[in-house]
Amino acid sequence: MLPYGRQSIIESDIEAVVEVLRGDWLTTGPAVRLFEDELAQWTGGVPCVSVTSGTAALHVAYAAAGVGHGDEVITSPLTFVATAATAVLGGARVAFADVQPDTGNIDPDSAAALVTPRTRAITGVDYAGHPADYDELRTLADRAGAVLVADAAHSIGASYKERPVGSVADLTTFSFFPTKTVTTAEGGAVAAADPAHLERATRFRNHGLVRDPAEQRDPGHGGWHQEVHEFGLNYRLPDVLCALGVSQLRRLERFRARRAALVARYNTLLADVPGLTLPAQRAYVTPSWHLYPVRVRDGRRREVYERMRAAGIGVQVNYIPAYWHPVFEDLGYRRGLCPRAEAYYAEELSLPLFADLTHDEQDRVVETLAGILG
Ligand SMILES: *Cc1c(COP(=O)(O)O)cnc(C)c1O
Repeated sequence: MLPYGRQSIIESDIEAVVEVLRGDWLTTGPAVRLFEDELAQWTGGVPCVSVTSGTAALHVAYAAAGVGHGDEVITSPLTFVATAATAVLGGARVAFADVQPDTGNIDPDSAAALVTPRTRAITGVDYAGHPADYDELRTLADRAGAVLVADAAHSIGASYKERPVGSVADLTTFSFFPTKTVTTAEGGAVAAADPAHLERATRFRNHGLVRDPAEQRDPGHGGWHQEVHEFGLNYRLPDVLCALGVSQLRRLERFRARRAALVARYNTLLADVPGLTLPAQRAYVTPSWHLYPVRVRDGRRREVYERMRAAGIGVQVNYIPAYWHPVFEDLGYRRGLCPRAEAYYAEELSLPLFADLTHDEQDRVVETLAGILG
């Protein structure tokens, strides 16, 4: 089965990992800082904290933003459930804003209608790798006194109005799962411009431990003393995986360019296939495409999904609206809440897109799809 996404691992990635395995530090060592420093070169210099997954990154970001009981987080339902689940785990209620019908990104006007005095965070999701409308979301967040979060699990290396993703929101989260553009097997990171957010994120990923005597409430016990002021978890990304991350980041520009070229090729090859809507792109963004999301019109998405799969082409659907998950239904969320997100979901089909996808493979995807719809 041709997958919809997969990692690209070459000999230099393997060597980077093996070198760490031969050394002294499997975790909490120098590769962690090196990875975070290299990552910050992609966020316009905004410092980064590495964590064990994109989900952990969201959990850390909400903790750093102070999201807690009684707070509300506004986000898009057209995302992986983790964007909303981590906010709920932090004690917040999630308010789902509808999406723009073409990009699938959160619609700032829909988000504006959901702002209340309890709104603590507004989270944009850069669906498919196309940045959300951050100027509008920024205005909204500032007016609400909320923290602006970007779930950039799809969009590392993208830019919004010439500003790199990671430098646009207050807190930006990345995922390094193998299907994403850069991988550490499992992994993630949070970029935080505000030093207070950064400090809180750094502590949360390490049990909330405070090691600096100057920061401790009751120092002077001895060199071993450490304190917990706020609960945290162990979300530390080990050196073994950070080394892979460093090696992968050095290939990010090529990954981004290759994915962009494949997207352009899909756009050309699929332009005349009937019953398809191809992904939209705003003039003021440079996406870093993680997905190639087409929409299959005329109620044929399921049929096309099944026939593509039967032909050995691993298409995917991204995503079931988050509040359709029974866990949200049990909290009182109902279908129909975000009609544009539901309409997008009903037609969405992600075609294979990854750096090592060959033109032959891509041609087979196009021919199979055109054969079904033609
Ligand atoms: C992948 C993904 C996540 C979660 O990342 P993991 O590394 O799999 O935990 C969160 N949000 C979005 C939009 C994602 O695509």
